[in-house]
Amino acid sequence: MSVWGDVVGQPAAVAELGGAAADPSAMTHAWLFTGPPGSGRSNAARAFAAALQCPHHGCGECAACRTTLAGTHSDVREINPEGLSIKVDEMRALVQLAARRPATGTWQVVIIADADRLTEGASNALLKAIEEPAPETVWLLCAPSDHPDDVPVTIRSRCRPVHLRSPAPEAVAGVLRERDGIDPDQAQWAASVCGGHVGRARRLARDPQARSRREEILGVPRRLRRLGDAFFHADVLIRSAENEADELRSSRDEAEREELAVAMGAGGSGKGAAAAARSAKAAERDLEKRQKSRATRTQRDALDRALVDLAGFYRDTIVAASGAPVPLTNPDREQEIRVAAAEWGAESSLRRLEAVLACRDALEQNVKPRIAVEAMMTALYQG
Ligand SMILES: [Zn+2]
Repeated sequence: MSVWGDVVGQPAAVAELGGAAADPSAMTHAWLFTGPPGSGRSNAARAFAAALQCPHHGCGECAACRTTLAGTHSDVREINPEGLSIKVDEMRALVQLAARRPATGTWQVVIIADADRLTEGASNALLKAIEEPAPETVWLLCAPSDHPDDVPVTIRSRCRPVHLRSPAPEAVAGVLRERDGIDPDQAQWAASVCGGHVGRARRLARDPQARSRREEILGVPRRLRRLGDAFFHADVLIRSAENEADELRSSRDEAEREELAVAMGAGGSGKGAAAAARSAKAAERDLEKRQKSRATRTQRDALDRALVDLAGFYRDTIVAASGAPVPLTNPDREQEIRVAAAEWGAESSLRRLEAVLACRDALEQNVKPRIAVEAMMTALYQG
């Protein structure tokens, strides 16, 4: 057992990171973890943070390892932007905290999970911090790629790169079996349809609702027989994303409101009490704003997952129609995919795939979900 157990199918990256943790004299103060979604960027960054704090460079068993992996180590901060971007104020505060000396650990480590969501101002604040790093501070940035759209060149050029790959199905199945105790057949199936995304494989293996959502969305392409079907399925897709977001949201929002109310106290009279009540109101509005931004993001993520499933289906029909010797993303739907491929041909399949990708782009550009999804479904119906 070591801290690297959750870093699935990445032997090269693990060797490099393990080596760096064991030799602090060669330490780099800023690292950039890149890789496709699901390749485990933040897992790898977290494991590396643990290895840096661990006296044995990542034993997985000491207090430093366990607290880092659990997210409670006092010298490891992990930033997961809850809204759609990381703003400059948050980043400035973080830069100040990060410049402090570590309290108990060897390093002060900051993990930024979605560095591609930094605003321009936040990027500039971060750039200053990594240009002149505090001697005991290490920044671990995670982003889909090192393309300038994701990470500004000025930041990238100061980071040591760690490239992760999509793990092979056997590696994913192995983790589901051995670490999560999932039944071998279920693990095998989930690994074969997860597209190299460990978290997705785990969700599909464990959560019957995730399986039925996938069933539903993969059934859509064959059910678009009339124009009316396009609007019907657009509605189903939007509602399903809303429901998924609601489930996650309601319990968490309520708990936060209660916590805030307790922290702010209530009642009393006189000048002080009135001022306190005004601050409490302001804090409440602030919380509501953050919760709303998080809700938008959760819903968008849920919708995006469905679109990725849909894109996988059309990608498979292109593969099937062109006879390319490449494995399918959805091998369990091969029959259906071959029928669709024969009916549509490669060109029309490609147009459909492009319609799905255009919908993802539109959502990224803040087009209203219903408008973007209806336009996509209409294009999918027309072929
Ligand atoms: Zn340890």
